[in-house]
Amino acid sequence: MSQTVGIVGAGLLGRLLALTLRQRGWQVSLFDKDGPTVPNSCGYAGAGMLSPISELESAEPLIARLGFDSLPLWRQLITSLNRLDLPVYFQTEGTLIVAHHLDNADLHHFRHMLQSKLRHCQNSEVPASALNALNWQLTPQTLTTLEPELGGRFHSGIFIQEEGQIDNRQLLLALENALQLAEVQCHWHTPVQEIQAGMVQTHPRDWRFDWVIDCRGLGAKPDWNNVRGVRGEIVRVYAPEVTLNRPVRLMHPRYPLYIAPRENHHYVIGATSIESEDTKPVTVQSAMELLSAAFAVHEGFAEASILDSLANCRPALPDHLPQIQSSPGLLRINGLYRHGFLIAPQLVEVTCNLLSGRPTPEHYQALIQGGTVPVCP
Ligand SMILES: Cc1cc2nc3c(=O)[nH]c(=O)nc-3n(C[C@H](O)[C@H](O)[C@H](O)COP(=O)(O)OP(=O)(O)OC[C@H]3O[C@@H](n4cnc5c(N)ncnc54)[C@H](O)[C@@H]3O)c2cc1C
Repeated sequence: MSQTVGIVGAGLLGRLLALTLRQRGWQVSLFDKDGPTVPNSCGYAGAGMLSPISELESAEPLIARLGFDSLPLWRQLITSLNRLDLPVYFQTEGTLIVAHHLDNADLHHFRHMLQSKLRHCQNSEVPASALNALNWQLTPQTLTTLEPELGGRFHSGIFIQEEGQIDNRQLLLALENALQLAEVQCHWHTPVQEIQAGMVQTHPRDWRFDWVIDCRGLGAKPDWNNVRGVRGEIVRVYAPEVTLNRPVRLMHPRYPLYIAPRENHHYVIGATSIESEDTKPVTVQSAMELLSAAFAVHEGFAEASILDSLANCRPALPDHLPQIQSSPGLLRINGLYRHGFLIAPQLVEVTCNLLSGRPTPEHYQALIQGGTVPVCP
């Protein structure tokens, strides 16, 4: 008989884990306090950048490794979703990092910071192929070849070839449809009151499973008291006068930002990072900073229509690394912080290994607190 699992939280991690476990023969039930689009989840607000190297500027090498291991898993998943006629915009055209002439010092600083971090990374964390494909000093000609509409506006930059991005909202929707097709029991609009080993408590009943997995992100705070929220804000625009082929990061002393292109001239402009758990709507100051930085990258954004703006809080642990707390019958996973999309597929693999009693590779053991889990409680 197949094993049963109850997953609490159907945001990015929860629904990815639910689909993967179902495909591996588990009986899966998924709970979320919101409806299928989970508009209040962090995953709905995210920008979907998959940047294992750029993020290294402020992240640990373990994040880069999880990110590099996740990229082929994303490819497989997107291909399988496409086969089900569930399209998700996903591309790996690299990232371009630029600065205006006056802010060249910020670009130099970023370059030095990244180079010094990379010197301490092992080949397993950042593959040599990714390093060899990295262009630290773009000439104006190469920059123009990569992004014709930015030629003349910027004269130098960095190009990180092995990075990508995914349309987060399309992904959440496609995963929800795939869960339905796979006959995962989804309990929407069902706030979970309590989670214990093998038990999920909702109103008015308790549910029993072989395993329970807590994927509530910031919602897990009552049971995980050092999870904190780091506020992030984005603005989505439709800019028919702008054509960018890949995510562009602007180095700026006051508001570094990225512009992530989606299909049909839609762009996500993000993201602020503020030590606050306030999820109130995007502030005027943040909107002004994000939009003026976008305009500084490309004047075509002046005529763009603002589609929406969104704020949410990234679930972070003190070391800014994810963590899996394991005990018999219960796993709690949290701390995806600003890297959820980058690292989720590999984190799901580590979790599936734990559940099936397979050993965790040494380089991922630091993610797990509580030791190796027995095959079944
Ligand atoms: C502005 C912004 C930009 C970002 N950009 C990127 C990016 O470019 N690249 C990247 O890799 N990451 C990015 N992130 C981070 C990424 O979105 C998060 O790391 C990721 O969404 C965390 O996933 P999660 O599943 O842990 O949490 P969530 O996606 O928040 O999911 C948690 C789910 O749990 C549910 N829940 C909570 N409490 C309960 C309860 N009691 N009962 C039932 N359900 C409950 C919630 O409704 C929610 O659906 C960004 C985040 C923000 C805010």
